[in-house]
Amino acid sequence: MLKKNKIMDCVIIGSGPAGYTAAIYAARADLHPVLFVGMQPGGQLTSTTKVDNYPGFYEGISGNELMENCKKQAERFNTIIIHKTITKVYFSDKKGGIHRVYMKKNEENIESKGIIIATGSSPKFLGLDEEKKFLGLGVSFCATCDGFFHKGKDVAIIGGGDTALEEASFLSKICRNVYLVVRKNYFRASKALQYRISKINNVNIFFCSQITKIMGNDFLEGIQILNTKNKISRTILISGLFIAIGHSPNTKLFKNQLNLDERGYIIVKKGSTSTNKPGVFAAGDVQDPTYRQAITSAGTGCMAALDLEKYLCFC
Ligand code: NDP
Repeated sequence: MLKKNKIMDCVIIGSGPAGYTAAIYAARADLHPVLFVGMQPGGQLTSTTKVDNYPGFYEGISGNELMENCKKQAERFNTIIIHKTITKVYFSDKKGGIHRVYMKKNEENIESKGIIIATGSSPKFLGLDEEKKFLGLGVSFCATCDGFFHKGKDVAIIGGGDTALEEASFLSKICRNVYLVVRKNYFRASKALQYRISKINNVNIFFCSQITKIMGNDFLEGIQILNTKNKISRTILISGLFIAIGHSPNTKLFKNQLNLDERGYIIVKKGSTSTNKPGVFAAGDVQDPTYRQAITSAGTGCMAALDLEKYLCFC
């Protein structure tokens, strides 16, 4: 139970792999963490059907089950889990200062010497009808997570950046045909990746193209693509559609308090999870524009708890 007016050692905002791992480590270090689950309990993994690449689960595990296990593990060490969303934060500038996080109603708040931000990022949607309906039923945001389900089948990827080309390269080894749908007549991705893709036979590129329709019954069955130059539409039958048009870090709440990069990611000190405010640490996708894997998020969640433990020893 959360005691009123008690100043906590560790408040964690976010409940994906980073948040729960931070909670497990902080709890075992006797920091008595309080974790706010936020808008999407369990984070992005809960919209992935099966996770096959998280070490230790040799037969794979559903994203939901993995996150439920992480939650139970955090609870086993007495993490206080609060099913509320933080709506406002105040971060102190002073070393050893007290930070405050506000919950929805009546300016209700909690004070803490340490904060771990693990609010993750949200993939950008195309904004088409049916896109959300087929999420986890053919539509995916992660080829490394879901590509295996389309072994020997045809799939499409939308996007022309590094993520899209990395995904295309990965999927080309598993799938029969990979259709890469790019809205401009050129890639945004690095030259090295473009070169790699140009050498792969089963990647078919549609430049100047947009997806105009997503089709299917219980599962995704196909998409309609419009060539924006010659205005010709075509339908391709696919079992998987991978959307790789970028991610947005969930940092709106911290905009005026923390240093963010030009894309909105929290800037952390190299080799650590420290932000520009003493006692405030960031873990997982919210500070990682590059790797964005469950295992790397969990890794930085662990780092954040260790960084906080060390910080509290010196204040
Ligand atoms: P990016 O923002 O770099 O690319 C997004 C791509 O999606 C662009 O081609 C963009 O088109 C396209 N796009 C955006 N919105 C739409 C839309 N509504 N419809 C159709 N297409 C759309 O995102 P990434 O996730 O690819 O990369 C993010 C960052 O991560 C980058 O800095 C990248 O370098 C890095 N990264 C690095 C990797 C590596 O080094 N191996 C691997 C993966 C990511 P347009 O160009 O027309 O705007």
